[in-house]
Amino acid sequence: MAVPFADLQLQYQNIKSEIDAAMAGVIRDNAFIRGPYVDAFERDFARAASVKHCVSCANGTDALYLAMAALKVKLGDEVITTAHSWISTSAMITHAGASARFCDTDGTTFTIDPAAIEAAITPRTVGIIPVHLYGQPADMDAIMAIASRHGLWVIEDCAQAHLAHYKGKMVGTFGSAATYSFYPGKNLGAMGDAGAVVTNDDVLAKRMTMLARHGGLVKHQHQIEGINSRLDGMQAAILSAKLPHLADWTKGRQEAAAIYDAALKQVEDIDVPQVAAGRQHVYHLYTIKHVRRDALAKHLNAKGIQTAINYPTALPLLPAYSRFEHTAEQFPHACADQANILSLPMFAEITPAQQDEVIRAIRAF
Ligand SMILES: *Cc1c(COP(=O)(O)O)cnc(C)c1O
Repeated sequence: MAVPFADLQLQYQNIKSEIDAAMAGVIRDNAFIRGPYVDAFERDFARAASVKHCVSCANGTDALYLAMAALKVKLGDEVITTAHSWISTSAMITHAGASARFCDTDGTTFTIDPAAIEAAITPRTVGIIPVHLYGQPADMDAIMAIASRHGLWVIEDCAQAHLAHYKGKMVGTFGSAATYSFYPGKNLGAMGDAGAVVTNDDVLAKRMTMLARHGGLVKHQHQIEGINSRLDGMQAAILSAKLPHLADWTKGRQEAAAIYDAALKQVEDIDVPQVAAGRQHVYHLYTIKHVRRDALAKHLNAKGIQTAINYPTALPLLPAYSRFEHTAEQFPHACADQANILSLPMFAEITPAQQDEVIRAIRAF
């Protein structure tokens, strides 16, 4: 039996009538750009994410740019982020005008090591972008304490962590702003590109809204120079239809993770994901470590079991950052992990039979 990495078609079939009605409504109302469906999703998502404001935008990458531009990041500033993430996190630091300072991960949770943050701070540092990677919150108490001690802002990259909690508090509510992606494969996914930046700060919300809409709140009144980053009505309606299911889907991922944990933690050479105390993981990805990762992936793929590597190269070692002349020794955990990590099939609807197929194939290897 082949096992897909994720199954978006199955998710659609399960709620087909709700999605089809949402799309038909947008077409009927000609509400393709802005309009009631976008406004409704912004309200719905703000409530779900426990924040005051949700500013929708075109994708999770733009969301990072909008947050930094609204915080007035400028040339010469430095922003600290993790060595282990998708490139959007660090690339938007550059596009906002600043320079990225990478920190190693902590060796167990795949999230930024607070001790490394402290060591990376210089007089030019203005902010920190922790990433709740794979769906596990970063160590927010330690990060917020460092930020407040040094007068830095924090933007949480929540692209993989919808509804995750740290010590009972929703991610995305710790820093000045938080960014979300609704890329189709994310825990809450649109049927195209979509994103949002959230905040409890009224001034920041207004500025991010202006920045995303050509620099103005009223047509032809451009107060500043912005960009064009819109959530379209179709995606907004689809996301509003999916949002009520997100809590159940999250539970489905957590139950699937528990099944993998129980079966795989005894297997020699496999490290299952470690969840730190007080952190609630939402398993956007279920990523194991194995010293012969490439051979294991080949074995699983040959049996029709799809896997992924998130990500094959630590950010500081990508050609895009060759100007920094970083070495693997500077980021021992992130750089060691890039050779060992393997993400297994993980989605809310995965069946015990599908998981059993994955588990038996790993045991056979
Ligand atoms: C997906 C993702 C993004 C970017 O989101 P897009 O919607 O694809 O632009 C940013 N950061 C992380 C950690 C992500 O996983």
